[in-house]
Amino acid sequence: MQTITIDERADLTIDVAFAGAERPDRLVIVSSGLHGVEGFLGSAVQNSLLEDPAEAWPLPDDAGLILIHALNPWGYANLRRFDEANVDLNRNFLLEGQAYSGTPEIYRELDGLLNPPGPPRLLDLMAIESIPALWRHGERALRRAIARGQYDFPRGLFYGGAEPSRVHRVLLDAYPRWIGGATQILQLDIHTGLGGWGELVLLLEDTVSAERARWLADQFAGIKVEWSGEGIAYPTRGGLGTWCQATFSDRAFDYCCAEFGTYSGRTNLSALRAENQAFHWGPSESRSTVRARRRLVEAFAPADRSWRAETLERGRDAVRRSFAIVLQRGGIG
Ligand SMILES: [Zn+2]
Repeated sequence: MQTITIDERADLTIDVAFAGAERPDRLVIVSSGLHGVEGFLGSAVQNSLLEDPAEAWPLPDDAGLILIHALNPWGYANLRRFDEANVDLNRNFLLEGQAYSGTPEIYRELDGLLNPPGPPRLLDLMAIESIPALWRHGERALRRAIARGQYDFPRGLFYGGAEPSRVHRVLLDAYPRWIGGATQILQLDIHTGLGGWGELVLLLEDTVSAERARWLADQFAGIKVEWSGEGIAYPTRGGLGTWCQATFSDRAFDYCCAEFGTYSGRTNLSALRAENQAFHWGPSESRSTVRARRRLVEAFAPADRSWRAETLERGRDAVRRSFAIVLQRGGIG
């Protein structure tokens, strides 16, 4: 077990557990909480894996499991999707030579709607207000443009930051140590909020080759795998997965953003918007702030018992399947 302290005063840490071989060649990584408030389900999956007896996971001598808990500890502790600087960490991992600037044109147009400079209203009119924009651009184009990531509106949603974030800098140093000499790696980075209620979709980075994407989809047969902006997936900039694959391009590093659906895209966007307004502009104890914070937690960690039980089981199954894929050492490498 390793603990990386992000902020000593606030007791914020990323905790990492290692199981299996001391120097594994084949590795499954399960990470949680890159998007703060989305961390509850990933954390539940990780906890349940820790509670399993060792016999439940018979691994060969050269295989290991790493659990990375709370990649965005500030966001998780403060129930936000973003970090302490309002940065969406999954838009912050730009590669060498990529600039922390630029915003999709539609986002720029919709900034006033997405990020109104004032506290949230108790009656949120987002759905009504967004109709003209929907009519002009279509829901899919709108979602892609909004969620792609922007680097010009520091108080806005999906802000990728102006420089590598604190967590980004920590991972630059820690990741190579965590994965050591492993040559076959599969990471499941667990998120919530995208997709149908309780459903699991594995999203691949759009930099993955078509051949590799097809191979992974075959391997995960039964679990939906989406790639390159198909279906609910959308191309983003600065994703952790693209960074991992570029940084460790000398290994076979498969990376899946494991998305578990909750409410509709519009419901969740509306919850994100209200909470972001409350964070930047709302009096901390006002009714609308408290309500916005509660809404955000429900949007990304629904209280519904069957949602929680079913997604936990699906998460565990995805980990089991990941091991089967890594252990057969097959594929294109
Ligand atoms: Zn997420």
